[in-house]
Amino acid sequence: KSVLSLRGLKKAFSGQTVLADFSLDISHGEFVTLLGPSGCGKTTLLRLVAGFETPDDGAVFLDGTDISQLPPEKRQVNTVFQSYALFPHMTVFDNVAFGLRLKKMKGKVLAERVRQVLVQVKMREFADRYPGELSGGQQQRVAIARAIVNTPRVLLLDEPLSALDARLRREMQMELKRLQRELGIAFILVTHDQEEALSMSDRVIVMQDGRIAQIGTPREVYEDPANLYVARFIGDINLFPGKVTECIGENELQVDVFGKSVQARTKKKLQTGQQVLLLLRPEDLRLTENTQEEMPIFHGAIMERSYRGSTLDTTIHLDDGPVVRACEFFDEDDPDFDYRVGERVKVSWVRGWE
Ligand code: ADP
Ligand code: MG
Repeated sequence: KSVLSLRGLKKAFSGQTVLADFSLDISHGEFVTLLGPSGCGKTTLLRLVAGFETPDDGAVFLDGTDISQLPPEKRQVNTVFQSYALFPHMTVFDNVAFGLRLKKMKGKVLAERVRQVLVQVKMREFADRYPGELSGGQQQRVAIARAIVNTPRVLLLDEPLSALDARLRREMQMELKRLQRELGIAFILVTHDQEEALSMSDRVIVMQDGRIAQIGTPREVYEDPANLYVARFIGDINLFPGKVTECIGENELQVDVFGKSVQARTKKKLQTGQQVLLLLRPEDLRLTENTQEEMPIFHGAIMERSYRGSTLDTTIHLDDGPVVRACEFFDEDDPDFDYRVGERVKVSWVRGWE
């Protein structure tokens, strides 16, 4: 059963549609990310759920009850903002206690609850500090503590990690996952970072212009993107133009790509003779010396080669036209390791699909 249901939400600002007929069900304890470029309506959607905006049409249900008309403080939904929005003149303790005091909690019960939550976010020793005395990551923890202290049904997080540097950000990603598991409440995290979405979520919701482009597990959206928009947005892709020469069974195809016959798979109903684009991730392509491979081989020249620690990225300009990117696990003993920019190479692929 869903903890949160959004039904046909619509929102426009001065005639400009920002959300168009948005529907979504989120299960209790689920970790969901909203992924999409700036301006696609992510924050607006969270504000509708939290009650800071009212929908032009549609409704928000929490545990089956329509909460569309309730003010934010009457909804069991809290938000963590990117800006932290802590009260600068209050200690960490008072920041976290704020919401509980509004609900008339006090004394030992209040102190015990605040302590408990500060332990959960690993900020217990900082109870008497002021926000100005804390690092960005520590302020973020306090903001999270304040948002979970009155045990909401759903926690909304609007790009909470985007101001942090890369290392701290990865650390906080793992912290958020741990917290969510411990608390067992639904998290909806907004991000425009595809790696963050893939690594953290039970389900990813890819948004495009106020609509859902695809909902799926991280693997589904990465390995089976619903369309070119999703494929491009989630990770790098290589596109090879082709023509269907044979349809084999349910979803297997034989495709002609630059005069070579290759196998591909698809979920669409396609016909012989149809023009298609084959989509390959960088890790599906590799450089090879072996000309006897089963997979097709394309010739080209290296444009760029960059060492990335565990992988080696190569950009290749194929003689047939496209510029493609191959991402291979780094292996010093590999005879292909020493390729230089400008050098002629052969590119093979591991798999492909339309
Ligand atoms: P995102 O969070 O995905 O970047 P937003 O939901 O903030 O996107 O904004 C989506 C669109 O709605 C943008 O074009 C933005 O300018 C517009 N918008 C958001 N809030 C308002 C508002 N209060 N008044 C007018 N336009 C708004
Ligand atoms: Mg936003």
